[in-house]
Amino acid sequence: MKTFLSFLNTFFGLSFKDIEVEKRYQKNFIAEHKEQNILVAKIAIILYFLYAPLTYILIKNEALLLLEVVLFSISGPLFLIFFAKKNLLEKYQYQILFFAALITGLGPALFYTFTTNDRATFQVDLIIPIIAIFTMYGVGFSLALLIYLSITSIFLLLAIFMGLSFIDIFMALYASIFTAIVSALSGYMIEKSTRRLFLAKMKSDEFKFIIENSHDSIAIFAPKTLKYLYANKKTLTRTNNSTLEAIIGKNIFEVNKNMSRYTIDLIIKNLDEKGFFSSVVPLEDSQGKTHYVHNVTQYGFFNSQEVIVSVSSDVTELKEAELQMREMALKDSLTQLFNRYKLNEYSMLEIERYQRERQSVSLVICDIDFFKKVNDTYGHLVGDSVLQKIATTLKESVRSTDIVARWGGEEFALLLINTEKKEAFAVAQKVNRKISEIDFEDIDQITISCGVSQLRDGDTQIRWFKRVDDALYEAKKNGRNRVIYK
Ligand code: GH3
Ligand code: MG
Ligand code: MG
Repeated sequence: MKTFLSFLNTFFGLSFKDIEVEKRYQKNFIAEHKEQNILVAKIAIILYFLYAPLTYILIKNEALLLLEVVLFSISGPLFLIFFAKKNLLEKYQYQILFFAALITGLGPALFYTFTTNDRATFQVDLIIPIIAIFTMYGVGFSLALLIYLSITSIFLLLAIFMGLSFIDIFMALYASIFTAIVSALSGYMIEKSTRRLFLAKMKSDEFKFIIENSHDSIAIFAPKTLKYLYANKKTLTRTNNSTLEAIIGKNIFEVNKNMSRYTIDLIIKNLDEKGFFSSVVPLEDSQGKTHYVHNVTQYGFFNSQEVIVSVSSDVTELKEAELQMREMALKDSLTQLFNRYKLNEYSMLEIERYQRERQSVSLVICDIDFFKKVNDTYGHLVGDSVLQKIATTLKESVRSTDIVARWGGEEFALLLINTEKKEAFAVAQKVNRKISEIDFEDIDQITISCGVSQLRDGDTQIRWFKRVDDALYEAKKNGRNRVIYK
């Protein structure tokens, strides 16, 4: 039977698997469409009622026929209505539909045959339950009609061949046609609605699948208690939980031990003030590695209950790229030293520190002597490598806390932290000597000139830097390869 149905359904574009799944949802459908079922049964009664007077008009004195219609044809649909109203259709749909069809078709056939001894009508009436059963098994409207038409044609030919009267054939056809229409109609309705229901269910299954397997962490919380109501797989793995049960009912702080209290407080504060939170927050994983997550948390309604919905996407790679970009923007690509912008920023911080803590700070600016000549004689590429070597020497000559920057083309700045003028002067002289001692292979000796000045009381950055610049100018004017302090 299953193979046969499977064949029919595949033929009509409905796989057997679909039917199996649909049957599961059909139960819900029958419960939800009780009213429609009753309506179909009522239509059946009206059609059968038409059958009775018509029979009576056409076949005079056929009182038995009238009784047949009243007793049996109507009893099938009534049977349906009775069970539909008792909500039993949901549970015993196939059995009930089968008996309804049996009573409707087989009942009158047997009765009529018994009282009139007319076998042909019995045979024609037998078609009815067959069609009804097929339809009710959910084969659908088109298939039910096709089966009906083919079986009816065979029986019609059979009836003509057996020499039945026109009226007999007409009456039999009338009964079976309307039964076919009624059952096909209910089959169609079941098919249409179960399909819709099936699709809706499919959709919710799809959503569930997507959310469950999302690369983002998705969680739902109860508003005041901040207890988990739902968490998808990603949330579970992120929080080192293997089952949903392990997390449900637990508080956000309990579960997210690696998340800083500050971050959670910030999210809650934003929720209270703006109704939502959206930002990138750092998060430490169980191995202590920092991840950056873009978290969006907002209020929502679920099952008419207010909840907090939180979605977090891991943006670590993006954030790291951003940090790298920032580093690139602050560093000189040729020498890997800080650029002028960063040195300015550091010097401002140091001025503030001096004003607050009286921590001394000095600035040295060095300019390569006759560097143009190096470029002109050996080319720019050689010039570049000279700049790189000098940058390395500078970096190696100062403390790790000092800031070394490329101040301009062939000018470098040293921001010497916690350094007074004498020390700064000594550092500059050391640097001066070291650079003059570098072996540049094919280039003769390279020298630099330096200006030095310590930050003084009441200094602005401009005034301080101007003094260093003046000192450097003096060093150049006085013959280069020297350090001048101002
Ligand atoms: P002095 O400072 O002793 O007065 O002479 P100078 O020749 O060093 O002075 P000037 O300021 O006239 O020339 C600086 C040169 O530095 C000019 C420019 O070609 C070179 N320069 C600036 N930036 C770079 C760079 O990134 N790579 C190379 N190869 N050369 C650079
Ligand atoms: Mg210069
Ligand atoms: Mg120069």
